[in-house]
Amino acid sequence: MPAVLLHTCCAPCGGFVIKELQTMGYAVTVFYYNPNVFPEDEYKLRLREAERFCQKENVELIEGEYDYESWKEKIRGHESAPERGSRCEICITLRLQETAQVASERGFDAIASTLTISPHKSAEMVNAIGHEMADLYGLQFIDRIWRKANGFKKSCDLAEQEHFHRQDYCGCEFSIRSKPTIDKVE
Ligand code: SF4
Repeated sequence: MPAVLLHTCCAPCGGFVIKELQTMGYAVTVFYYNPNVFPEDEYKLRLREAERFCQKENVELIEGEYDYESWKEKIRGHESAPERGSRCEICITLRLQETAQVASERGFDAIASTLTISPHKSAEMVNAIGHEMADLYGLQFIDRIWRKANGFKKSCDLAEQEHFHRQDYCGCEFSIRSKPTIDKVE
């Protein structure tokens, strides 16, 4: 069974994607690496919810390093960019690069990301970055657009069923005030 390291931003996005990957025949390990999430209490709450689900489903969860100040340094100059713009490109690149590096060090076959479940994200951007980072480390990138084929609705249904904490902003302090555009959910 091929092993995939799934970058997971939160439980509402992760739950459905974990189950989809398992159905596709992958052994899934969750990588919770989100130094972008502000404030720290929100980071911890999202982590706890992801851990709760992983424990229930018997899925291993690896936590990455949380360093919001260092993340903020990396996106400096892009604070005012709209969601799906240059700030997000840097943020997603950082998270998927770390995912690919950890996957490579630990002998995974593939990486994937939950980020394409959200209609707030550019799936093209996420998948282009995912392929680039996977290629760098000689891994496969599973580029499914999870929100398609009713995936977004199914993820919302699962979140409701599991009583997940559901945040109303992407993660960083800049996304709290911005109103993102939304892609048509296919
Ligand atoms: S809006 Fe989301 S993806 Fe974009 S920079 Fe903020 S946390 Fe990262």
